[in-house]
Amino acid sequence: MKGIIARFKANLYFAVPFRNYIINTLRNMQFNSQYIPKVIHIEVTNYCNARCILCPYPKMKRPKGFMPWHIFTRIVDECTQLEGAGLEINLHKDGEPLMDSLLFKRIAHIKSKLKKSRTHFNTNAMLLNEEKTLSILNSPLDSITFSVDGASKETYENIRIGLKYDVIEKNILHFLKMKKEMNKRIHVTMQMVMNKDNMHEVSRYKELWGDKADRIFIKKAHNFLVQKTSIHGGELTEKQLSRCMQPFYLMLFYWNGDVALCCWDYDNLVGLGNIENESILTIYNNDKFKEIRNAMEGKSCKNIKPCNACSQIYGKDGPMWE
Ligand code: SF4
Ligand code: SF4
Repeated sequence: MKGIIARFKANLYFAVPFRNYIINTLRNMQFNSQYIPKVIHIEVTNYCNARCILCPYPKMKRPKGFMPWHIFTRIVDECTQLEGAGLEINLHKDGEPLMDSLLFKRIAHIKSKLKKSRTHFNTNAMLLNEEKTLSILNSPLDSITFSVDGASKETYENIRIGLKYDVIEKNILHFLKMKKEMNKRIHVTMQMVMNKDNMHEVSRYKELWGDKADRIFIKKAHNFLVQKTSIHGGELTEKQLSRCMQPFYLMLFYWNGDVALCCWDYDNLVGLGNIENESILTIYNNDKFKEIRNAMEGKSCKNIKPCNACSQIYGKDGPMWE
């Protein structure tokens, strides 16, 4: 029964892009035929303390940095115009958010300006010491995901290069204990990206964290454009097999204000604009975004980079949740 409920919830989660696609389509009528993002990613930093084998981080060529405060507040200010019934604001993209010294000031700022929106970030938990644990639990953060791709030291450390299983396990267990003691409601997800090296540990992972976290999220490894780590093999097909909804509801800002195409675009591969020069709506409705959306709707992305090399639509990496 528990398994059926979990699968039902995961399916609902996957349905979110489609729900947002419909919401966006309806909202177009209100906003003069303009697309409006529903989920915003703000990359507070693209520095990371790890070199995970599933992540294109080591291949990233763009400069490293932390988002300057004036760029951050510009994004938040613009979001106040688009908030509607609420946005999802994620403070991660490529990089480790706990390396950002302004992280908690940013969370407080978002929550003071965007009262109907939810704030979240993913972390590898390596830097989750006592001070950061208390800062998170005393902040208005709505939810957090701990990315832990294994249920044993050996498996985990072969995937999450540079991190220590004993440390992250101790940190997360302590966080969960403090959360309980302080009676905090922050929603905690334990996320495992399942690949051929850790799939034998999925059951153990569920046993380890099932009664401690609010949600266990098992996500299938994909190609991430360049990683060749897809659990499905990752071969690209001639014909476009599916549509990707990311450009219809997501908007992602790199730390310097540049706009990414999607979660998989780790290196500003398209160049859609920068928030310092243009507004959110102008960028999100510019010719490049329009061209990509039109091609996606027509399943004709053959000439659209990097989508034409993406195993999400030219392969089987589409539905990634278990
Ligand atoms: S997956 Fe996360 S923790 Fe690992 S290298 Fe990429 S950004 Fe860093
Ligand atoms: S198809 Fe792939 S590259 Fe294109 S927007 Fe979707 S995830 Fe990104």
